[in-house]
Amino acid sequence: SKALELRGIEKVYKRGEPGEVAVLRGAELVLEAGEVVALVAPSGAGKSTLLHIAGLLDTPDAGQVLIGGQDVTGESDRRRTVVRRDDLGFVYQFHHLLPEFTAIENVVLPQLANGVSAKEANQRAEELLGHMGLGGRMTHRPAALSGGEQQRVAIARALANGPRVLLADEPTGNLDPATSDRVFAALMELVRTTGLAALIATHNPDLAGKMDRVVTLRDGLLV
Ligand code: ADP
Ligand code: ADP
Repeated sequence: SKALELRGIEKVYKRGEPGEVAVLRGAELVLEAGEVVALVAPSGAGKSTLLHIAGLLDTPDAGQVLIGGQDVTGESDRRRTVVRRDDLGFVYQFHHLLPEFTAIENVVLPQLANGVSAKEANQRAEELLGHMGLGGRMTHRPAALSGGEQQRVAIARALANGPRVLLADEPTGNLDPATSDRVFAALMELVRTTGLAALIATHNPDLAGKMDRVVTLRDGLLV
């Protein structure tokens, strides 16, 4: 089934002003459930714009975004927030973990916010952190974890509410190559066991080569 569909996405910044930039000019992408796609594009090509639109943080000037077959383009901000919380997971280059909370709390909290019971949330958090090889680090605060460990917690958090689609922007971009490889392998294993779809922006050709498919942005189109 189709997890994410981008149909004819157009985005222009500063329309009608000097310095107008047409970043997206009809971008098309279909992510099937279970598919992992690399987004590789030079800086300034529109990667962030595309991820923000797919993540319902920004609206396109034209075109549709479908999540799980549902067109969410024209939905209210409130409805889009619900879809973002229930169906989308985000991982960034910098992890944005809550510094005052432990690893497990960082993975539990988004579930509590989503109405999951404390018991279930803890079980799921333990399972996810265990999968990420962090069984022995659950009660550490982010500052007591290495960069790779922090990023693995962030991945577990992104998957906490069982999203359909994972959107990641340079998820291993601030890690050394060996750590980057390990974190990416752990991410891929979790993606494979949960069957979610992932769109992962990266500048790393080795990582891109390990994904199912590579797309790039050229003149505002995804190819
Ligand atoms: P990437 O993530 O691939 O580096 P972006 O999506 O951030 O690319 O930006 C694509 C282009 O759009 C760039 O030329 C950038 O300067 C421009 N741009 C991005 N955001 C804005 C904005 N809010 N206003 C005007 N131009 C923008
Ligand atoms: P930046 O300066 O890189 O935009 P931010 O801390 O503002 O840093 O945001 C980091 C990332 O989090 C960005 O990719 C941004 O688009 C994303 N982001 C911001 N707000 C939200 C939100 N409410 N939900 C999901 N992602 C968000």
